[in-house]
Amino acid sequence: MLIMAHPDDAEFGAGGLMTYWHRAGHPIKILCLTNGNAGHHQLNRSDLAARRFSEASQAAAQVGAELEIWPQDDGRLSPSVELREQLIAAIRAFAPTIIVTHRTADYHPDHRATAQLVKDSAYLLQVPAIAPQQPPLTGMPSILLTYDRFEEPRPFRLDWVIDTEAVQPQIIDLLACHATQVFEWLPSLISGQDGPYDTAWLTGFYQRKPAAIAKKARALNTARVDLRFAEAFEVSDYGGPFDASRHPFLPSS
Ligand SMILES: [Zn+2]
Repeated sequence: MLIMAHPDDAEFGAGGLMTYWHRAGHPIKILCLTNGNAGHHQLNRSDLAARRFSEASQAAAQVGAELEIWPQDDGRLSPSVELREQLIAAIRAFAPTIIVTHRTADYHPDHRATAQLVKDSAYLLQVPAIAPQQPPLTGMPSILLTYDRFEEPRPFRLDWVIDTEAVQPQIIDLLACHATQVFEWLPSLISGQDGPYDTAWLTGFYQRKPAAIAKKARALNTARVDLRFAEAFEVSDYGGPFDASRHPFLPSS
């Protein structure tokens, strides 16, 4: 279960992992806590929310994921008790073995609020008096945090690195579903380039991150010397223990 702030964060942070999970037959749910309705330079909030729902639906279909997008405004998410209890009920309803979310150090306030909501929900998942409309979980899911570059308050730990070279085309296809973001909004933020903003451009733009993660992993001597593209996850100690050996279908990194 990917619990992310915006309707493209799952694909940017864990598009490879979702692709491998889908191929291995694992059920996936993507829950976006905001509708993404601020991520554009021209569209109004309601038109953008509608387009982003359609884009996220296409991407979710490619990895066989169930999709849920909450109506909260993009850029205005706060970790309220009300949302926390809604989130606890949503997690219990899907009963994931693994939750993927942001770190609380991430650059976007909505990412940090999402991370805080997941962190604050973790212990309460097993407390029956909280959100009693769903029965409490009997086991604690592992919580994996997606990669970011922030050094404060602590740099990202590369606890689990997965080789995503074999699924780069599939990740690019997932990202390309989010046309309002990758072909419209992101290019509008980039000065000094005239485009064209096409799939080739998106590939170059996206691959800087998995290449940087692979380089960091190689520098730690924890990865194959020829690892080129990777996703990395930090294992949160707010979740249950994480067992990487339950993913034997992944290429060795
Ligand atoms: Zn985001």
